[in-house]
Amino acid sequence: MPLFGTNGIRGILNESITPELGYKFGMAVGTYYADQEIALAYDNRTTSQLLKRMAEAGLLNSGKNVVDLGMVPTPAIQIYCKLKEIPGVMITASHNPPNFNGFKVIAKDGSNPGKVEESRIEESILGERFNRAKWDNVGLSRLDDAVLPYLREIIKNVDQGRIRKMRFRVLVDCANSTTLATTPPLLRQLGVTYVSVNANSDGFFPGRGSEPTPESIKDLISFAKSVRFDLSVAHDGDGDRAVFLDERGEMIDGDKFVALVADHILERQKGDLVFPVASSFLIDRIAEKHGVKVIRTPVGAPIISDVLTKTKGIMGGEENGKVILPHYLNGGDGGLSVALALDIVSSRGKEISSLIKELPDYKLKRIKLPNRPDFESIKSKIRSHYSKMSADEMDGLRLVERDSFILLRKSGTEPAVRIYLSSMNSEWIDSREKEIMKLIGPN
Ligand code: MG
Repeated sequence: MPLFGTNGIRGILNESITPELGYKFGMAVGTYYADQEIALAYDNRTTSQLLKRMAEAGLLNSGKNVVDLGMVPTPAIQIYCKLKEIPGVMITASHNPPNFNGFKVIAKDGSNPGKVEESRIEESILGERFNRAKWDNVGLSRLDDAVLPYLREIIKNVDQGRIRKMRFRVLVDCANSTTLATTPPLLRQLGVTYVSVNANSDGFFPGRGSEPTPESIKDLISFAKSVRFDLSVAHDGDGDRAVFLDERGEMIDGDKFVALVADHILERQKGDLVFPVASSFLIDRIAEKHGVKVIRTPVGAPIISDVLTKTKGIMGGEENGKVILPHYLNGGDGGLSVALALDIVSSRGKEISSLIKELPDYKLKRIKLPNRPDFESIKSKIRSHYSKMSADEMDGLRLVERDSFILLRKSGTEPAVRIYLSSMNSEWIDSREKEIMKLIGPN
């Protein structure tokens, strides 16, 4: 089993990841990078302080100095690494449940390291090949602040004065996570009056869990429906993502939110867009409007980041609402998304629900079929049933009919199959769903 998954090493303490692995991980990162300083930060999970101390000991023992940034969202350490041009280590399991934790390497430009870097670090861990410092060369640790530079960098992407004039009212759900240290101060800097919920740090994520889903944020939705806010926002556990509710408290589909951001960005500057096969054709309509291309990739933020680097794309995104602006940071950032949402509303002078309604109405339905290890057989049944549709296998199987599609993917983390159905026509989606369910039958 490789240690690194799609987004670092993840697992449960003393089951699949151990404090000893944390120490070895620190040693391996310290051995791999030639830099003298390595940034280190962690989220507020119950196991983060333990794992942070083990990783720190490994870094110091490899002879590297540690810049301890404390408990901050992932994008804050990423921006810090980019500004200082040093690598970093983040202890987090993003939106996974509270029993999970993990180790993430951050490259010197703040992005995810490439597969080559990861596999070299992995080999070093597995082969226990580490540089061990002599007594007079062991590293030192110092503290530094990542929050202020992070907020400053976010604000460079928006018109702070124009946003301040709007005197927005925002409801923010910090998910009991580290975003409580960054999003409320960001909103204050933007002159926003806000109400925060789940804004106490708690590594058990008791408020609503660490992943913002329509089910997990239903209390936020009813709050936003009963009190008028211009915008409501719910972060994930490590702050690289945010989902939004409009001024009526209706959830904004992530697929539409990223399209709105793309339209806003392309009005100022032209460049190609990088989106996975799971995003609807709405993004193609936005690209056509501005005379640019959409480069499609398999699903997964690290792949999108990689393609953005190679193609010099101007923006990437995912249908879950993740926005990537590579000139700022080649990775998602929920704090940036909040600032961009307010920037868009203030520049267009309309409520966010009307801005979303003005977009071509591409619907995207996501279905997860748990306990389906029979992906290959499901795939071939569907492929032969829809033999008239054009097929591509960039990631799973995508069958396209004009601007509608069926996408079938195997989950990377569990024996489940994911189905995405997208069209401007809801009946198309409903009938394809019924046909597919009938076709594949119960497990
Ligand atoms: Mg995350």
